[in-house]
Amino acid sequence: MTAGAAALAALLLTLPASAHQQRLLLGRSVEGRRIDAVELGDRHAGKRLLVVGCIHGNECAGLAIVRALERLPTPAGVDLWVIENLNPDGYAAASRQNAHGIDLNRNFPWAWRPLSGIYDSGPRPLSEPESRIAYHLILRVRPRISIWFHQHERLVDESGGDIGVERRFAALVGLPLKRLPREPGSAVGWENHRLPGTTGFVVELPGGSLSAAAAAGYARAVLALARAEKPRSLARGRA
Ligand SMILES: [Zn+2]
Repeated sequence: MTAGAAALAALLLTLPASAHQQRLLLGRSVEGRRIDAVELGDRHAGKRLLVVGCIHGNECAGLAIVRALERLPTPAGVDLWVIENLNPDGYAAASRQNAHGIDLNRNFPWAWRPLSGIYDSGPRPLSEPESRIAYHLILRVRPRISIWFHQHERLVDESGGDIGVERRFAALVGLPLKRLPREPGSAVGWENHRLPGTTGFVVELPGGSLSAAAAAGYARAVLALARAEKPRSLARGRA
């Protein structure tokens, strides 16, 4: 090993695990746009979280939150996964649905049923590439907490997981905790039933875009929620 390589190796050993950041192409939307995940923090940590910045293409204020998360240091012991935008075609068209006109948050395989109009649930569960991408990532990562940002009801939705987690996040961001209807085929409904003991929940941000300060505040709340989670044995592991 050259002196330079040895110095680099020594530097890499001294970097904290939380400095890790990796961007992965998960797949592509109906119109071929990239859907990426960014993994932040300690990839071997037992505390795995997922944050989805946008699933309804006209409710994407959460994009600013996930970008703030990527700039902040991830706490030690946390493996934080981010899908910035699960619906890039809808976002490009300022549309709730994907490019097939399907509401991705009615396309997941729990309590799915045929719906038409703005809540069109697709011809069958997971008919859409975007929902399949999230489905496969979630089964691989098995996040203990998943946060899905929507707009514009200004609340944290009691979504069917651990209400203590939802209540903590609501207090951190200063939004009320309320229970919206449990919609058929929703992502969090599927997660909370498919992965018992984990908590997927919806955060309805205010309308419009978030200021940089507000987005950073939400990002810090996500990290505080992650820190508050008790470490759990790695025995469950990744599937
Ligand atoms: Zn929504």
